[in-house]
Amino acid sequence: MLIFTKIKSLQQEIKSLKDGTTIGFVPTMGALHEGHLSLVENAKKENDIVVVSIFVNPTQFDNTDDLINYPKTIEKDLSLLKSFNCDIVFTPTPEEIYADNIKSESFDFDGLEFQMEGKFRAGHFNGVGTIVERLFEIVKPHKAYFGEKDFQQIQIIRKMAEKKNLPVQIISCPIHREKDGLAMSSRNTRLTEVQRAAASFIYETLKKAKIQFGTKNASDVLKWVENEFKNHPLFTLEYFEIADEETLLPVKTKNPTKKYRAFIAVFAGKVRLIDNIRL
Ligand code: AMP
Repeated sequence: MLIFTKIKSLQQEIKSLKDGTTIGFVPTMGALHEGHLSLVENAKKENDIVVVSIFVNPTQFDNTDDLINYPKTIEKDLSLLKSFNCDIVFTPTPEEIYADNIKSESFDFDGLEFQMEGKFRAGHFNGVGTIVERLFEIVKPHKAYFGEKDFQQIQIIRKMAEKKNLPVQIISCPIHREKDGLAMSSRNTRLTEVQRAAASFIYETLKKAKIQFGTKNASDVLKWVENEFKNHPLFTLEYFEIADEETLLPVKTKNPTKKYRAFIAVFAGKVRLIDNIRL
């Protein structure tokens, strides 16, 4: 497994690959878990070589505390990736990516960026667009793998690829969960023992909301979810929304030809967790 910290040397390696070599790319922020590794496995199956990036992208954090406290486990990450036969790891510094201008570009994602996460994390998707476009330019992957845990992010990246005509196929991969149903996340390691033991409540609530959506309308399901969290001693609901998978607009009246998903963001103390479920 080759490890690069510099753009130039990574690009030299990529240029030296035999013509026709297909590259699968998995961008991550590290603190890897089985969710990330499932993306690597999919990329391995479908491409000649797999490149994983590990980069905690400063421009997508709207909260400095979250950025500073983002877990970093680089040695463990590298040995996991090696054991999964990853070919290339790219671990640049912020300066390598942004030089002395750590700023996002501005994107128009046709309104996808104003829903859900976009309402609560100012500038987040401009940061995501900036880093993903930059990494695509550097790595030039044929296929790039993203997890449905960040479903809105996938739709935004698809939109960017479509609008900018980027020569990359965006592949979405299902959410990996802990045994008790909690969506795997690097941030889970920041939960206290008590919070962690109770955190399956989030997915349990999503599953119950899914059942309710069979017979109730979205605003009744929302009221029920809000009520479930109202008196919860450990978790605070930031948002719950049932939205159209394509437009991410909140559902008004159910249309049987559309696909819907329920999305949730919850605070456990200062740790922010997100999850979603197909309805
Ligand atoms: P992150 O390191 O959190 O930026 O995530 C890197 C990639 O892994 C993103 O495409 C995420 O959606 C994906 N990912 C994170 N957690 C999971 C999970 N539990 N299941 C599947 N994919 C995930």
